[in-house]
Amino acid sequence: MTFEQLGLSPEILRAIEDQGYTDPTPIQAQAIPSILDGKDIMGGAQTGTGKTASFTLPMLHRLQPYASKSVSPARHPIRCLILVPTRELAAQVFKSVQTYGKYLPLKCTVVYGGVSMDPQVKDLRAGVEILVATPGRLLDHIQQKTMRLSQVEILVLDEADRMLDMGFLPDIKRILALMPEKRQSLMFSATFSEEIKKLANNILAQPILIEAARRNSVSSLVTHVVHPVDRERKRELLSHLIKSKDLQQVLVFVRTKNGANNLAKQLERDGISSTAIHGDKSQPQRTQALEEFKKGEVRVLVATDVAARGLDIEDLPHVTNFELPNTPEDYIHRIGRTGRAGTKGWATSLVCDDENELLEGIEKLIKVKLTKEIISGFEPGTKDGSVKPASKPNEKEHRGHTKEKVKDTHTNNKKSLEFDSKKRIYSKEKPSKEPQDPLFTQPYVPATATSPTKSKSESETTAVASLSLVKNKPDSQPRNQRKEKPIPALFLPISINSPKQNE
Ligand code: AMP
Repeated sequence: MTFEQLGLSPEILRAIEDQGYTDPTPIQAQAIPSILDGKDIMGGAQTGTGKTASFTLPMLHRLQPYASKSVSPARHPIRCLILVPTRELAAQVFKSVQTYGKYLPLKCTVVYGGVSMDPQVKDLRAGVEILVATPGRLLDHIQQKTMRLSQVEILVLDEADRMLDMGFLPDIKRILALMPEKRQSLMFSATFSEEIKKLANNILAQPILIEAARRNSVSSLVTHVVHPVDRERKRELLSHLIKSKDLQQVLVFVRTKNGANNLAKQLERDGISSTAIHGDKSQPQRTQALEEFKKGEVRVLVATDVAARGLDIEDLPHVTNFELPNTPEDYIHRIGRTGRAGTKGWATSLVCDDENELLEGIEKLIKVKLTKEIISGFEPGTKDGSVKPASKPNEKEHRGHTKEKVKDTHTNNKKSLEFDSKKRIYSKEKPSKEPQDPLFTQPYVPATATSPTKSKSESETTAVASLSLVKNKPDSQPRNQRKEKPIPALFLPISINSPKQNE
């Protein structure tokens, strides 16, 4: 199967050729013909499979008849809305649309929070056919009447599972209510949960189910290794691994923002150039951290789960879980950063004794028993590694390390921990205090503090909003424990007018 055989226009094929892609990836080969046919899609695709192009290429093809060089905004209504959970993913999808659409006079822009609304307002007022947006900022613009969704023909929900995890469902419903019922809807999710299926039932009409990889699976190109180690020696082991294996580009996951900052500082002290990316960093700081990491100016990028969503770093060879994630699905998301688009990847997890249940949950979800290797000198239970492991070290060398495969002992350690498939969390595992990025974990509240300079219309919005809205501040409470916040009259009642949207 070639891109030509998929029936894409010559302008799009030229852009694909410029990228050097020779063949469509499996998700592209499956999704593109159905999307070109106007079908709704439920795409089970993890990141790194080429899923962005799988919806962007046919979307551009379908919108091509609207391409116009006219400067009149009226000639450029929003025809396609791509909703994504995070700013990084928004920026990345926007870049893909620009890349694949570079030979077409279709206009595209991106809107997300944490930056001034003014340039976004300017772009929207000039008219765009394609809009990439995070839900909260999109609602800000709708409230300011800088844009309308009444002519949307194609809706894409990318990383839908993450959007639900971040509590965006009410925002998504509000947005859907403002869109024509008759449209093509495409939904992509790396993982399938009951909530995702319910959302798909509500949004999609007779969808074609496309799965690029086994559900809840990870790329077969990724080699997973677990290094058992005491919690207090994890940083030391990480430095040791990076130095001894001469790793040049490692994405390291931690659970908390403080943890990210601290680890980056400690690694710096160990002589390993590092930076952190998380929700407390401003957008320019995040962009800079990512750029430095991509260019190889820093060896380690320490990230929290949400901040790392959507990061596409070409040929990223190593992902390390400094701490295992609280929810097994996040392991898939984290590992999806490596082994992308046909390249090999390494996923290393530093696991201490009290993380064994989390490890079990991950293995259960991905249906793979992860190989355990104790690094010599870092045996658990030995403060300085002075006590050597009881079992005989494996002769095999692993990138300069003597590795030892040990018998999996954690199955004896089941206790009474239960994996709650509904909440997708272990009942006894305390959720991290800062599990998510506060900028994205709240229901919609109009932009107030995030815009450095307020336009007249923004000030007006703020005045109206302040009558009924709580201040936009980080909220670490889980969404389902928060009191319902009043919402502006514009969005009441939250009704979905489509018969298929009957949640
Ligand atoms: P995605 O899953 O959309 O995040 O894409 C992952 C990476 O695969 C991106 O860097 C794309 O540029 C790349 N990619 C997408 N389609 C192809 C293709 N057909 N051949 C080679 N690389 C691709």
